[in-house]
Amino acid sequence: MSRAPTRVVVGLSGGIAAYKAIEVVRELQRRGCEVRTVMTSNATRFVGPITLTGLTGTPAVVDLWDDRVAGEAHVALGAWAEAMIVAPATMNVLGRVANGLADDALTATIACMRGPVLFAPAMHTRMWTQGSTQRNVRALLADGYRVVGPVDGALASGEVGMGRMAEPSAIVDALLALLEAPRDLEGLGVLVTAGPTVEDLDPVRFLGNRSTGKMGFAIAQRARDRGARVTLVTGPVELPDPSGMEVVRVRSALDMHAAVLARAGSTDAVVMSAAVADYRAKSIATEKVKKGDDIAIELVRNPDILLELGAIRTTGKPVLIGFAVETNDVETYARDKLVRKKVDLIVANEARVGFGGDDNEALLVADSGTMTLPRMSKLDLADRILDRVRELHSERNPA
Ligand code: C5P
Repeated sequence: MSRAPTRVVVGLSGGIAAYKAIEVVRELQRRGCEVRTVMTSNATRFVGPITLTGLTGTPAVVDLWDDRVAGEAHVALGAWAEAMIVAPATMNVLGRVANGLADDALTATIACMRGPVLFAPAMHTRMWTQGSTQRNVRALLADGYRVVGPVDGALASGEVGMGRMAEPSAIVDALLALLEAPRDLEGLGVLVTAGPTVEDLDPVRFLGNRSTGKMGFAIAQRARDRGARVTLVTGPVELPDPSGMEVVRVRSALDMHAAVLARAGSTDAVVMSAAVADYRAKSIATEKVKKGDDIAIELVRNPDILLELGAIRTTGKPVLIGFAVETNDVETYARDKLVRKKVDLIVANEARVGFGGDDNEALLVADSGTMTLPRMSKLDLADRILDRVRELHSERNPA
């Protein structure tokens, strides 16, 4: 039996990227969605409503009091739609919605939505990086709205920078992922660490490791898609900030230690996928060290963040998940970590498999036994780990 098409409203506000909203509409239709549109009057300066009406077979709503729609247009659209995309979302629209304004057809429709609303911001870099825009985006996320992009790339001005609207196919992917994801982590706060930590030796040199952050980012993204409130604490990696979560960028193990400890008390689960450096230089040279004879660098131990969290945990919260990358005897070392660090689950793998790629092959080692998972994508593995987070959280916090 085929499912009825998903009903999506696409809302356009007034920016150059409005022309790409047409491709968003087409892509949704190609993927089997039924689409209706609503636009601000400024958006009509960029795209003619007639184009959208022609593509969707339903009048594009511009006026709050459009008498071609039965009842109030915004209420009718909100009642009809399962989800909404706002593309492009200008700085102005983000600000209005973040502050509870509903003074035109687009913002009033957003206010009437029951299903998810996904904003695709598009603006010049200077507008995107304004404190007010960033504050409004944080407020929107806290209110349960979703955001995709913007991305770094060519801007309408001819410059290159952050603020370009996400590609139409990426916007549609993000919306469909939202609709498909089970919302089984709704209400949970999940803190994920990712990437390496970098331990400076002097102003130009450091000790690091091969972690790329992909596994931790995948966990954070899936946790977000499944409804969790996510904080991602990441060491230096090449990956862009994922949307829809708090991202804290740190450098050293001591920075990560401070960032995690400050937040662990108010979170339901901590997933430590970061490859935290075990040692740092006893002192960091303030000037570049000149080459000469052989030298020795004195290293001192870094705090073990996970061990500390295990030691201070007195209640059912937070669920603690650690990672173990080994070159041999993977399960034995993982089980040793499970017990010694007093955590609920260790995700263990061989260094040769886990680093860098898009796939991973892991053992899930817990008190209850070891589960051997086949090779799968890091996103799928993220889901398997989060299934365990959900189970462990309800075991440790019975209703
Ligand atoms: O003992 P080992 O370093 O192999 O343990 C790995 C696990 O412990 C990972 O989850 C890692 O994030 C965490 N860890 C930590 N602080 C450290 C070292 C490792 O939290 N200093």
